[in-house]
Amino acid sequence: MIRENVDLQALNTFGLKALARYFCRVDSEARLSQALDFAREHKLPLLLMGGGSNLLLRENFPGLVMQVALRGITHTLQDERSVRVHAASGENWHDFVQHCLSQGWYGLENLALIPGSVGAAPIQNIGAYGVEAGDLIECVDVVDIRTGERQTLNHEQCAFGYRDSVFKHSLRGRKLILGVTFRLWRTPQPNLRYAVLAQALSDKGAGPQEIFDAVCAIRRSKLPDPAVLGNAGSFFKNPVLSAEHYARLQQTNPDIPGFPSDAGGPVKVPAAWLIEKAGWKGRSHGGAAVYEKQALVLVNRDHASARDVVELAQQIMTSVQQQFGVALEPEVQWVPPFEPPFL
Ligand SMILES: Cc1cc2nc3c(=O)[nH]c(=O)nc-3n(C[C@H](O)[C@H](O)[C@H](O)COP(=O)(O)OP(=O)(O)OC[C@H]3O[C@@H](n4cnc5c(N)ncnc54)[C@H](O)[C@@H]3O)c2cc1C
Repeated sequence: MIRENVDLQALNTFGLKALARYFCRVDSEARLSQALDFAREHKLPLLLMGGGSNLLLRENFPGLVMQVALRGITHTLQDERSVRVHAASGENWHDFVQHCLSQGWYGLENLALIPGSVGAAPIQNIGAYGVEAGDLIECVDVVDIRTGERQTLNHEQCAFGYRDSVFKHSLRGRKLILGVTFRLWRTPQPNLRYAVLAQALSDKGAGPQEIFDAVCAIRRSKLPDPAVLGNAGSFFKNPVLSAEHYARLQQTNPDIPGFPSDAGGPVKVPAAWLIEKAGWKGRSHGGAAVYEKQALVLVNRDHASARDVVELAQQIMTSVQQQFGVALEPEVQWVPPFEPPFL
């Protein structure tokens, strides 16, 4: 059922006000065809969404917003070591992680408590605590928005990278994700590469359930709950600098953290450190603010408008550029899209 002039405020975790000219909750194949036909017939721009937890809605949307709510989880046992699990795109991510754990299907536990849907997970290759969803994704079922043609993209075709995939580039806005197939382990494969997690578990053992519980506890202590304080998680990606750029910054900032992929190779620097060092932690602009416990998160402190959030983000980007020569790139999906550079 397609509705007109629908308020999206409760459907995006930033809690920003925006109206959809048309809105449809797609919870069946019939609704999916109906919505795609409607958009084609009326030549409407489409905005796909799941849980709205990675969106910055900057203005009313003039086309059709489709909230993808297809459900269902199936599995096939592959061999003694692994299981193939398919989840429809509208499954809630955290519930899916919990379900897999309860079935003895391991690998996703480091990704507990990430808000949103299974269908959005491949888009930015969600990641946390040393694991990325793409590590465990075997293939992704999609439908082409213009032609209605269905296709299965294998792992290589998804071109997963750091908060990145083919869905942000050549397939941007062209495919609706119907479901995702994961290859999970049937024996625990604890991943404790992330130091904070390893420390939290040092005297508790490190089975999958302990990892899941520790990740949930760490996240609850560090990140604001969107139900209480509007936000979209990490607002910016961690920038990756050349070894030379990083060495130059080290001369004036000996305490700058950095994670090289290889010796002498590019270095990933925590955006939170740069933002905090530039003096933004806890600061506000209109109703928007930089979260006081984690500078990477922008929050809707007090009835923020999209303009408050955008202006705050732009001020942070300008200041980090001027102080460190680093161009921060938003991780959150801006609608309409972010257009660099504005400086
Ligand atoms: C408190 C908090 C913590 C977070 N922590 C993390 C974290 O640790 N790691 C991390 O990676 N992310 C994190 N995020 C970001 C967010 O949870 C993820 O990006 C998540 O995958 C978004 O899912 P969603 O269903 O809400 O997507 P939405 O926000 O609804 O959409 C995100 C993007 O995916 C597209 N999309 C959604 N569904 C589909 C579909 N079925 N087909 C095609 N395109 C689609 C949308 O058009 C949009 O471009 C966090 C967010 C919050 C609020």
